[in-house]
Amino acid sequence: KHALAQEIQNQPAITLDGIEIDLYLNAGLLIDIEQLKITAAKGVGLYRTEIPFMMQHEFPTVETQVKLYSELRHAAGSHPVIFRTLDIGGDKALPYLRSMEDDNPVLGWRAIRIGLDRPMLLRYQLRALIQAAAGKELHLMFPMIAELEELLEAKRLLGLELERTQKHKKRNPPSSIKIGIMIEVPSIVWSLSSILPHVDFVSLGSNDLSQFFFAADRTNPYLADRYDVLSPSFLNILQHVAKTCKIAQKPLTLCGEMARNPLEAMALLMIGYRSLSMAPSCIGNIKLMIRSLNLKSATEYLQTITKKYKKTLRQDLSDYAKDHHI
Ligand code: PEP
Ligand code: MG
Repeated sequence: KHALAQEIQNQPAITLDGIEIDLYLNAGLLIDIEQLKITAAKGVGLYRTEIPFMMQHEFPTVETQVKLYSELRHAAGSHPVIFRTLDIGGDKALPYLRSMEDDNPVLGWRAIRIGLDRPMLLRYQLRALIQAAAGKELHLMFPMIAELEELLEAKRLLGLELERTQKHKKRNPPSSIKIGIMIEVPSIVWSLSSILPHVDFVSLGSNDLSQFFFAADRTNPYLADRYDVLSPSFLNILQHVAKTCKIAQKPLTLCGEMARNPLEAMALLMIGYRSLSMAPSCIGNIKLMIRSLNLKSATEYLQTITKKYKKTLRQDLSDYAKDHHI
């Protein structure tokens, strides 16, 4: 299966019944972007800007950031790259950023919360992203948004940076800007309809969303097998997001670890996801699953197994996959 996955990784991601699935890459390094050609992915669904920051000894200057983002954009060619603003704190610490002692770092001062409390930090990054996208389309995404107000404040800071670029005679602003948020905090799921009019796209981070949903630290080995993302409760929340985004006609991608495992990815397709972003090495296996799946029958099957309560649907889904040579 491994050899086959390698062989088909540049083939289209179309189910047996003709439904096209959009596959994107998650990236953090320049080398990941080079995989776009090999995997025929549509673009970079999640560029984690904190990864290069974690490899520095001090906060990178605007110039250093412009150089980095320009190189990434150049390597991606005509493919879109979704740049997620800094997601530091929690399990991703920056040694040179002085922060308070957090008793609960994962629930603490992290991601957009830092960016809004230290606005120049976020503004320098936005400035660099704007400069690196001169004359071209820019896709920006904000992490860990818990309330509409946080997005509005982040957009206000972006507006200040755009104004600054427009005042600068020699600087060319991006031709257009698409703004998205990560869905990682359960509170935002329950106010989705009010936030969707303010965004162009949405990306669901199943790693953080499941961690907060089950109140279970994603890095704690004692909890690793306790809760399952294929439980009816978690699939329910994911399905709610898919339905709400579909009604609002906002593109939705899932970019957490769930998208990289064929069984989990199959479940995601069954509940309405049509766009997934994952580590480059996983694309082949996911395509293998997609290309052997009849999505209409699989969706009907899911409805039959969700009628009665079960702790997890993993076994049923796995049996289905085996029986149907998926
Ligand atoms: C996620 O939370 O699922 C996600 C994609 O973001 P990260 O893994 O970088 O926290
Ligand atoms: Mg996350």
